[in-house]
Amino acid sequence: MSNIATNLQEIRQRIAEAARKAGRNPDEVTLIAVSKNHTVDQIREALAAGITDLGENRVQEAVPKYQAIGKAATWHMIGTLQTNKARQAVAFADLIHSLDRTSLAQELHRLGQRRGRPVPVLVQVNVAGEESKHGLPPAELPAFLEQISAMDGLCVQGLMTIAPAADDPESVRPVFARLRRLSEQAARLGLPRVEMRWLSMGMSGDYEAAVAEGANLVRIGSAIFGPRNYRS
Ligand SMILES: *Cc1c(COP(=O)(O)O)cnc(C)c1O
Repeated sequence: MSNIATNLQEIRQRIAEAARKAGRNPDEVTLIAVSKNHTVDQIREALAAGITDLGENRVQEAVPKYQAIGKAATWHMIGTLQTNKARQAVAFADLIHSLDRTSLAQELHRLGQRRGRPVPVLVQVNVAGEESKHGLPPAELPAFLEQISAMDGLCVQGLMTIAPAADDPESVRPVFARLRRLSEQAARLGLPRVEMRWLSMGMSGDYEAAVAEGANLVRIGSAIFGPRNYRS
């Protein structure tokens, strides 16, 4: 087996174990392979090993990969999205995880109206309040959801967060628990076009803690593909 297939096997086992311990059905958890900084060949290897969902964080990088792979996968735009790149993101992504401001919502709404099909989005929440991270402060979430639920060119399908980097993943578990509670509260608002179906949380270093707290979309890159080779 290739490294990618071996890594995937181990990750799936660990997800299943974390789900079972939490009394959850492991099949509820969708694994997104985050392929940023990795090649189309590596993506094909992951698809051959059973991956169905791919995550990219930069539109410029995602578009050529999407042109090569196409609809063989479900595509997730997980990175910060500039408003002037929204059109390209909508063209490839099945789900945008990083809606965090009104100006971007307005643009996605406009694009969704124009294509005659609402753009599915997750709202990114900066649960830990880190200065360096994008995302809406938790306190602003209800008003933001109310505002965008009036926009029929988009539909909200859940929440996303990035936990602070930590040596001990257990230490960020409260961040994941908080996102789950925020999603439960948001569901109770009963807003039109706002569904709380997805909780996108957990990366290579902390996905088991995220699954323990209810994640059903985990975004895993380096644990599948190996370390990223950053070029400047
Ligand atoms: C890169 C990235 C991931 C995956 O990170 P790994 O630590 O490599 O698993 C997940 N989510 C977002 C938003 C990312 O940008």
